[in-house]
Amino acid sequence: MSVTATAISPAVGSFRLSRSPRGIPRFRMAVSSNTVSVAPILTKLHKECATPLPLLRLVADSMAADMRAGLAVDGGSDLKMILSYVDSLPTGNERGLFYALDLGGTNFRVLRVQLGGKEERVEATEFEQVSIPQELMFGTSEELFDFIASGLAKFAQKEGGKFHLPHGRQREIGFTFSFPVKQTSIDSGILIKWTKGFAVSGTAGKDVVACLNEAMERQGLDMQVSALVNDTVGTLAGARYWDDDVMVAVILGTGTNACYVERMDAIPKLQGYKSSSGRTIINTEWGAFSKGLPLTEFDREMDAASINPGEQIFEKTISGMYLGEIVRRVLLKLAEAATLFGNSIPEKLSMPFLLRTPHLCAMQKDNSEDFQAVGSILYEVAGVESNLNARKIVVEVCDTIVKRGGRLAGAGIVGILQKMEDDSKGLIFGKRTVVAMDGGLYENYTQYRKYLQEAVTELLGLEISKNVVIEHTKDGSGIGAALLASANSKYDHNY
Ligand code: ADP
Ligand code: MG
Repeated sequence: MSVTATAISPAVGSFRLSRSPRGIPRFRMAVSSNTVSVAPILTKLHKECATPLPLLRLVADSMAADMRAGLAVDGGSDLKMILSYVDSLPTGNERGLFYALDLGGTNFRVLRVQLGGKEERVEATEFEQVSIPQELMFGTSEELFDFIASGLAKFAQKEGGKFHLPHGRQREIGFTFSFPVKQTSIDSGILIKWTKGFAVSGTAGKDVVACLNEAMERQGLDMQVSALVNDTVGTLAGARYWDDDVMVAVILGTGTNACYVERMDAIPKLQGYKSSSGRTIINTEWGAFSKGLPLTEFDREMDAASINPGEQIFEKTISGMYLGEIVRRVLLKLAEAATLFGNSIPEKLSMPFLLRTPHLCAMQKDNSEDFQAVGSILYEVAGVESNLNARKIVVEVCDTIVKRGGRLAGAGIVGILQKMEDDSKGLIFGKRTVVAMDGGLYENYTQYRKYLQEAVTELLGLEISKNVVIEHTKDGSGIGAALLASANSKYDHNY
């Protein structure tokens, strides 16, 4: 890397940038007396973020080893390997009216599904999405669950007499809750801790279904939860409904997680619990994985400043909530130490989580000659004026962080597949196996997806990777949760 961007005046260049409606950005002075060039900082970043094949292999092997350790005994590894209590997957015979509720990290969705059995399949779906107000992420448990229950109540009201349930039956809900829960049955589970920036008081240690039930009661809403599922589990169930080869599901959204179909006899910590199918879905909670990851000073500083320092390191390296923030930290360092954006630095660039992953995605998509879109985004979001050289460097930084994230996610997937293959010889790699993917990051970030797939192909080799299909299942987790509510219905659904 030979590009340097020292001492460039912010206004240099022939680009006309649109001014933000809030006017001229506020600047604070950079330490400009001892500026170094951009090159050594970038070289160090590249080196520390590199994910060559041997490193990916180590990550995949460590993932597989951590899975085994977590299955052996509770607390045996970073991976919690949580039992989902989902022992039978959708068959296609599911019938009736069901609701699904999905609390992710950014949004909360409600869904109504009319299932019509083998022939009709999904007859009708309607859904609504509400973004979660920032203040609720730091409020009380009651406030958050009241917000969810009232959203559900409003949505349910719109049913408008279209559906008729037999007398005395409550509407049933599949509740997708995408935070670490110690599942205690198919319809109950204790919140272990909040992640993804949530710091809601009074929920950890409680049954989240009871929290929702109490809120529904406060709202006068006559419904009940029949299945509590993690979003990965919902995605696996939803994808499996259409395709029998689905064995793994991965979420790459605000956060990240993965689940897979495991044989009961491969779970030593079970002790006595039996499933009629001999199999069950295990929720890995792989966001907590941490072994062998290539980390930088920017990752360590972001982690230290987070609300859960030392936790969720894999998630902090590969998922949507954090990629933008890592890039912002790199850019701030480049601005302060190497005057990437000239002699003064806009105050905004120092604001945590100002740069979001969708911004990185939009900047990487810019293939114009003068990186016009990159310039606009930097200006609109961070108040930064940039010349062409600086814009190129910004895109390069985005690419470095996103490439590392995508490739590590790919290595994680291979780790899971490898563990399953080692236990079943040929049943994974010897036939078609589908990994169902969902989440806003995977769905929208084409370059990330490409890096993920490349790593999987590199690790498995061309032949085996032909059998491994990584497939986007859009909104599969909602339908999946509804399907699991049906499979675990409190009633006999033969109508
Ligand atoms: P949740 O994880 O809350 O269930 P989603 O699966 O919808 O939510 O993912 C939302 C996340 O996906 C955002 O926080 C963001 O990080 C990422 N994302 C959304 N849109 C884009 C985009 N255009 N490019 C890259 N990442 C995106
Ligand atoms: Mg989600």
